[in-house]
Amino acid sequence: MRVKAIIHLGLLMENVRSVQRRIGPDCRICIPVKADGYGHGALQIARAGLEAGAFCFAVAGVDEGKELRDGGIKAPVLLLSQPHPEEIPDVIKAFLTPLVSDYEFAGALNTEAGAAGIRLPVHLKIDTGMGRMGCSPEDAPGLARFIAGSPALEYAGTATHLAVAESAAQDDIVYTRRQIECFNKALAAIRAQGVKPGIVHAANSGAVLLHPEAWFDMVRPGILLYGYGQINEEDTLPGLSPKPINVKPVMELRSCVVLIKKVKKGESLSYGRTWTALADTTAAILSIGYADGLPRAASNKWQVVIRGKTYPLVGRICMDLCIADLGPETEVCRWDEAIIFGGCAQGAAALAENAGTVHYEVICNVNKRVPRIYEG
Ligand SMILES: *Cc1c(COP(=O)(O)O)cnc(C)c1O
Repeated sequence: MRVKAIIHLGLLMENVRSVQRRIGPDCRICIPVKADGYGHGALQIARAGLEAGAFCFAVAGVDEGKELRDGGIKAPVLLLSQPHPEEIPDVIKAFLTPLVSDYEFAGALNTEAGAAGIRLPVHLKIDTGMGRMGCSPEDAPGLARFIAGSPALEYAGTATHLAVAESAAQDDIVYTRRQIECFNKALAAIRAQGVKPGIVHAANSGAVLLHPEAWFDMVRPGILLYGYGQINEEDTLPGLSPKPINVKPVMELRSCVVLIKKVKKGESLSYGRTWTALADTTAAILSIGYADGLPRAASNKWQVVIRGKTYPLVGRICMDLCIADLGPETEVCRWDEAIIFGGCAQGAAALAENAGTVHYEVICNVNKRVPRIYEG
């Protein structure tokens, strides 16, 4: 195979267990599997996640939820994003758990669930400072009462989402704590009217790492479970002691050397002639390019591992190919495997940083033409 993404399901399961140990046995794990499981394959991630003890899953689109149901996943599936009204029948058919931000949607769900003769679980989403989906904290008690009073709806949970939870910068810590406080107040106001908020959840990966007070009944860490436990900013508030969680990248991207050639001093390689040999050397042409998901912005800024040794990528990354500089003497052979990220190479986070993006984007952008090979 010219290029492949090895998905280490064993590592995913270890990551789930590491997170479970951190949050304790009474807190549940929801695995976000939106965007095809962050590029890993939603169904395979869901199956392995269940085996490792995950409670439920979260998707962005109705079709993503349907895919899990078609694959036999019976666990709750949270629908994080707002579906179009036309999609409500499919939400009900797939028995997804929508997050509800407003009366109109809650009412429409109640009507259609009633017509279908079912009781649909929904979670109330409160916007505490992300500025995206969710009702205002002031509207939360009223909307909660409305959901609880809707005969075809089951008020099964209450959620919010944090905007800067992965940052340990002082002002970001303060902002996250304010969001959590706002959420707690809204929860108290909901309970004060005799309505039970169901499963309470707020924590993304950053909050699992930095904000135990945001764990509540369930956490929703995505990137952490896929193997990336980065915290931004060193500048931590006193009293904050982020204990690292031992997680490993689940995805390992591999390609292979399809041609080896001698390059003479002064010769340039690839489009735009951005790299010129300063001395005689050997080039390995690798069968992977930006159309596979290796960011073009990483041109001349990344290195790959071949036979356990690290070699820089040189010249522009092309659509289907890139070039590694092997040096004048090399043991590398044609058809050797080249590890692009993960495994014994550096992770997608370092690659993303060099390419001026985030690791989320790098793993999600591994193209569907790259076969996923499941191991473990
Ligand atoms: C994607 C998403 C998450 C997971 O975020 P990570 O940063 O990957 O942990 C959690 N909650 C919501 C609402 C999301 O959209």
